[in-house]
Amino acid sequence: MSRVPDSFQALPLEFEAAGQTNEERQNRLATVIEAPGFNSLCMMLVDLVVRRADVGVFDFTAQGVNIRYQIDGLWHPMAVMDLESGEMMLAALKHIAGMNYEERKARQDGSFKLLYNSVKYKFRVVSQGVAAGERVGVYVDFKRPPRETVEDLGMRSSMKPQLGALLEADHGLMLSAAMPGEGYTTLWRAMLNACDRFTRDFYVVEEKSRVEPEVINVTSVTYDEKLGQHPFSDMRGLLLREPQVVAFAEIPNAAVLNAILDLAENEKLMTFSRLHGKNAVDALLRLLAMKPDLPKLAAQLSGILSMRIVRKLCQSCRVGFTPDPRLLQSLGIPPGRIRLLYKAHIYQPGQLDPKGQEIPPCPTCMGTGFVGRIGLFELLKIADPVRKAIASGKNLQALPQLIADSGHISMRDEAILLVALGVTSLEEVQRVLNK
Ligand SMILES: [Zn+2]
Repeated sequence: MSRVPDSFQALPLEFEAAGQTNEERQNRLATVIEAPGFNSLCMMLVDLVVRRADVGVFDFTAQGVNIRYQIDGLWHPMAVMDLESGEMMLAALKHIAGMNYEERKARQDGSFKLLYNSVKYKFRVVSQGVAAGERVGVYVDFKRPPRETVEDLGMRSSMKPQLGALLEADHGLMLSAAMPGEGYTTLWRAMLNACDRFTRDFYVVEEKSRVEPEVINVTSVTYDEKLGQHPFSDMRGLLLREPQVVAFAEIPNAAVLNAILDLAENEKLMTFSRLHGKNAVDALLRLLAMKPDLPKLAAQLSGILSMRIVRKLCQSCRVGFTPDPRLLQSLGIPPGRIRLLYKAHIYQPGQLDPKGQEIPPCPTCMGTGFVGRIGLFELLKIADPVRKAIASGKNLQALPQLIADSGHISMRDEAILLVALGVTSLEEVQRVLNK
């Protein structure tokens, strides 16, 4: 780690450049500090950290550098940087990350560390030539604590025992459902973590090349697609180990789904699996579209836990407003229950206060209006009328209505609850649930 020159003492920055030895790192840093793009590099890195951006993407084109940041899972366009300053910054960035700054086409990967305000951040840099010029991604590792449990993800406390009752059943099939890239793996792990893995023998069956980080007290059993194997290739071997719970990381087709249902029924085993779905009802319809054995599915399916992810309103700058009674009615909120709803404060650069001073962005959220994210959970317990409808296989398109009539709390209802609590805004849940 070396201090930056006097001109930058205002920013408490210490760099650790890429390199195998201390000498190499020091030499590299000494060169970068002298580079014309060093100041703009410092500004850019601090900007990424202060805005809590997990990724910054810099597109170098003939017209300039287009910049966007990913903050709380959402892309935000930033001001365009002129090409000359951008090129100088990029040369300094590539050099400190141990990359060849003259190479503009081939894919390169590098990293370095930065200590800022007593916190050490690791940056990973990836560059690649593209049709319009060059694309550079800067990834910031904030070392955020992993979200391993449904509580970490924000499940409301009254849902937890209902989930527990479904997970602890002695046999059946329980599913998790989320969208790819939106907590699909996180939800699966959290569901497995919510099970009692200490009193029951717990196995997860997964494809060899797609093994995921282990969950404590769950034994991984793999199959190899390259050898023509499938999840049931060595079920006899697994059953000799007398499992009580078998989780299947994926359901590739109806044959595997039917085999899982047979396993639950014949061996009296609790089984778990997961699939894609915008909500629990959507996941159920996707499951039915696989055309499984419907009476078996109806007999074994116990429930579906689904999750979407919404951004949380910045508590420092959220704006309260008195909702129109018709709005409350349309949301199904009884009159008189809620006095205030909240929305995000939209920062507009260049806006002046009454004294003619420019209004700065909120220092907590840097003007995005949101800080952090929370899981929006929906728990579908398969009720008897729904079970009968699935078993009959008739009029399956009426299932969503039947589920709604059974008193099920939908994803939308769960979202409105979070809006009513001021955790998130109507616009945010609409953005997520409508995509
Ligand atoms: Zn704010």
